[in-house]
Amino acid sequence: MPELAEVQTVVDTLKGLIKDKCIRDIDIYYPRIIEGDIESFKKRLIGQHFRRFLRRGKYLLFEMDDVTLVSHLRMEGKYFFEKGDAPNARHTHVVFYFTDGTKLAYNDTRKFGRMELIAKRENYDDFKNLGPEPFSDHFNVDYIYHYLADEKKAIKTVLLDQHFVAGIGNIYADEILFAIKVNPLMPAMFLDIKTIEKLIEETRRILNAAIKAGGTTIRSYTSSLGVTGRFQLSLRAHQKEGDPCPDCETLIVKTKVGGRGTYYCPHCQILPHRIALTGMMGSGKSTVLAYLEEKYAFKTFSADREVRRLYKEDKEVQKHILTAYPELAKDEMIDLTKLAALIFHDAKAKKAIESLIFPRVLESYKAFSIHEAITIAEIPLLYEAQMDKYFDHVLVLSSKQKVALERLKKRGLKTKDVKERTNSQMPIKEKIKRADWHITNDGTLAELYAKIDMWIDKDVRKK
Ligand SMILES: [Zn+2]
Repeated sequence: MPELAEVQTVVDTLKGLIKDKCIRDIDIYYPRIIEGDIESFKKRLIGQHFRRFLRRGKYLLFEMDDVTLVSHLRMEGKYFFEKGDAPNARHTHVVFYFTDGTKLAYNDTRKFGRMELIAKRENYDDFKNLGPEPFSDHFNVDYIYHYLADEKKAIKTVLLDQHFVAGIGNIYADEILFAIKVNPLMPAMFLDIKTIEKLIEETRRILNAAIKAGGTTIRSYTSSLGVTGRFQLSLRAHQKEGDPCPDCETLIVKTKVGGRGTYYCPHCQILPHRIALTGMMGSGKSTVLAYLEEKYAFKTFSADREVRRLYKEDKEVQKHILTAYPELAKDEMIDLTKLAALIFHDAKAKKAIESLIFPRVLESYKAFSIHEAITIAEIPLLYEAQMDKYFDHVLVLSSKQKVALERLKKRGLKTKDVKERTNSQMPIKEKIKRADWHITNDGTLAELYAKIDMWIDKDVRKK
């Protein structure tokens, strides 16, 4: 199936061959290639000149004097430019004869290609509801980030969706994902901003290289403007099953994504297993996180740690907060004790600060987890912040109320404050019901560790 680069090559080549030629007559041997009435198709085109040559997604657009001729090659469509009296090849379905004695023949063994006439227009941005062109300014970080924000579909499926971006097909989707080291099955919503920037860059680089290669290849073909199987020499992952990965030498594997043959390197393009750790205050979440990091060398993420980092180091966050609440300033930094008091007592301020902080924590988490095999993230307000959709599995930790209170007292927290905070959260029973795993922590540290070891062995390693 021709993709953007191949179609661009055909458009560029035809421009060099038939620009400003005038249609004298048209033969149509297979009417179903033409959308709409064929007599009117002929009538509107005869006497018209080929003026502008454009591409939108995988569509060829020929602007004539008064109308635009749209052509989609689908699987096997090809154009032949020849002398007018040359015999037609087999599977020739439409022939345009020019006034200068030459002709353009459309050939299609599978007969899936289509042609239609549409009105000329200023631009073709909204043509067929296609998404932006990969080379246009509309294909930018902002657009992609918002498009993907809640998208649970595999990133490869989204790349192939012509509403998201126009012109990317199966071959280049594999090549782009290989270049940015993202697993084709990864839910699209996990792409962080840096990875999206790379996606834009690599998409353009790969398509440009393909267009260039197409341009050089097509010159060696005399008059046939067929488009299949041309640029595969420079492919790094697509159709390379069993070959060593050019970056790490792990063998490339083949799978299916949305029914399409998909090739990737299982080492460079890891599919992360994301586990969230949440639960009651004082149930030992941080202890568990430290243990997993130390004993199992898991990569861990802590939402609290990240929030503190944002308050202390992120200039934008500081500026936002200190502009809205100048009373929190201390030596041009945020006084965290005062901030905690504000959040605790002022519901409106709490909401405003959360809407500033939550998306940033999420972004940090995406960037942290995108290339890791297993990650554990401690997210105290996992369900409250509706972040559970970003995890494959959830472990909830709980303790008896009395035991948790004792631990928190030792940390210097007041019983009244703990109760107030606990009451503002989702009840632990509800969290346990929603989670995949539940571990209680009412005994010694050794007992807790033993439970964690068993959980790793039984549940995590199996997944
Ligand atoms: Zn590799």
